[in-house]
Amino acid sequence: MNLFDAIAQNPIDIHPIQEAEFVARQVHADVLRLDAIHPVVSGNKLFKLKYYIKDAMQQGFDSVGSFGGYYSNHLVALAFAAKLVGLKSIGIIRGEKPAILSPTLQDCLEYGMDIQFVSRAAYDERNNILLQHAKVYWVDFGGYGKQGMLGAKDILHTVSDLSQYSHILCAVGSGTTMAGLIAASLPHQQIIGISSMKNNNTVEQEMKSVLPDHHHENFLLLHQYHFGGFAKHTPQLIAFMNTLYRKQQLPTDIVYTSKLLFAVYDLILNDFFDKGSRLLIIHSGGLQGNRSLPENSLIFS
Ligand SMILES: *Cc1c(COP(=O)(O)O)cnc(C)c1O
Repeated sequence: MNLFDAIAQNPIDIHPIQEAEFVARQVHADVLRLDAIHPVVSGNKLFKLKYYIKDAMQQGFDSVGSFGGYYSNHLVALAFAAKLVGLKSIGIIRGEKPAILSPTLQDCLEYGMDIQFVSRAAYDERNNILLQHAKVYWVDFGGYGKQGMLGAKDILHTVSDLSQYSHILCAVGSGTTMAGLIAASLPHQQIIGISSMKNNNTVEQEMKSVLPDHHHENFLLLHQYHFGGFAKHTPQLIAFMNTLYRKQQLPTDIVYTSKLLFAVYDLILNDFFDKGSRLLIIHSGGLQGNRSLPENSLIFS
């Protein structure tokens, strides 16, 4: 497991955001750059997959499978991780086979994934698909689950001076990453999750159900930064992403991390954080969603 071991051992780049408005409010913000781990399979998905892959191998499976959409950070990470350790992989895609595969799915194919398209109805009846592939180790959508949480916990173990931070902020899809961060954080730290979905009333419960039994309760899930809903974006958000890149050289994606960083700026500028706060922002990588944009929307790729 060379890459898994490497990402656990090598310190991950930490990038301080330089903004006069932050300095004026005496708030310091560092970005933990999981996006810098790998050009395609960067980010939290590799961490979340680590223990599923180990489990599949220990149980003697030769294939792992999961589910996703055309621009799934999760599937491409699974294809990559499986190939790395010599497992076969299968990806079940919800929807029609498009005339031209998305670049993300092309990368999945390149990593040897067997891609199958299923109708929305069949996708919603996932259990039937699972039964047809009894010899496949199935990972839940997005890596959701306890093993995913344990993998996400390792994200904070890469940070050498964790105790200096008062707040840890992350983007939230299934909540697995947030649960891992809560599990790994110190009692004086507050974990703030920015939901990338609109009106997702169940995500908090889903997040809590993968937490370990003993954890602190100092966390907060914010729902007002969804920009219209999951994978939805506005010209304002795209403009923010370009400005952020120009000023801070930080690439973000339209689904998760742009909304997280937008929230960070908005919260700081509205004096949400006390003077002296030190924020650790988890850049969860995964830039695949940007590949769905028209060319030249972004000044980075
Ligand atoms: C999947 C993903 C998330 C959400 O992670 P969860 O553990 O499902 O909450 C956040 N950021 C990026 C870039 C992702 O790909």
